[in-house]
Amino acid sequence: MHLDLGSLSVDVIPCGEFRLDGGAMFGQVPRPRWEGLARPDERHRIAMGTNALLVRGAQFTLLIESGCGTRWTEEERAFFGIAEPGALTARLAALGVRPDDVTHVTASHLHFDHGGGLLTGEGGTPETEGDLRFGRAVHLLQGIEVQAAVRPPEFQKASYRGPWRRLLDSGLLREVRGTEEVLPGVRLRWTGGHTDGHQVIELDGGADRAFFFGDLVPTAWHLPPAYTMAYDLHPMQVMSRKRELLDLCADRSAAAFFYHDPDPRPARVRRDGKRFTAVRG
Ligand SMILES: [Zn+2]
Repeated sequence: MHLDLGSLSVDVIPCGEFRLDGGAMFGQVPRPRWEGLARPDERHRIAMGTNALLVRGAQFTLLIESGCGTRWTEEERAFFGIAEPGALTARLAALGVRPDDVTHVTASHLHFDHGGGLLTGEGGTPETEGDLRFGRAVHLLQGIEVQAAVRPPEFQKASYRGPWRRLLDSGLLREVRGTEEVLPGVRLRWTGGHTDGHQVIELDGGADRAFFFGDLVPTAWHLPPAYTMAYDLHPMQVMSRKRELLDLCADRSAAAFFYHDPDPRPARVRRDGKRFTAVRG
């Protein structure tokens, strides 16, 4: 899947299916409202995607998100239904991109299903071991998100996994605060909400624009602002930032990428009164 924005070209890098508890993914939304959209399996999990993006500009190759990575035991893989741990590097290779060709990486936040692929390690690699997979890439991340990954808040302890301390002494970290254009046409917009350091990535290639929503709007099912997740640190902040950025996306007729949607294709967001819908194709 490819989208040409003008000076930026975007490829979707599906990093494989994984599964989380359906009730947790839909927070306060009653099951009869969501189970028709996302059918839970016998373990009450719903199948989702991990749709990373590769953005290429004249002077850079930027990876946005990285899937769950490879640091899983067989048991953990089965628990989370992680289908293709090696998909990230294989899909990049299919586009002719080796890890050392990636000049920049970013992530909406560093939970394991977003930042996991930024780390090396196989199977049962201990939490403290492993390294950065993209060893030449500048890591563009909100400073408070890195702090949370290194010292996770108790509420989200299980969501940050791996030796994130590596980032601090790698010389590859470029901490961002708030909203900043970090590369020509690439703007990181701090949102908070899901985590204190969560950000959305806005792309503007002149001819067209796109928003990558991370876990602010994980799937098109989550377009209603009140459809927050049990995993969100600050659900009311998610609601208000979601409304604000979906408004902006609709006003600009920008494309929208939903990281966890089983359908990895970009959509256009339409607004009908207070209701948002996603139109694909
Ligand atoms: Zn996620």
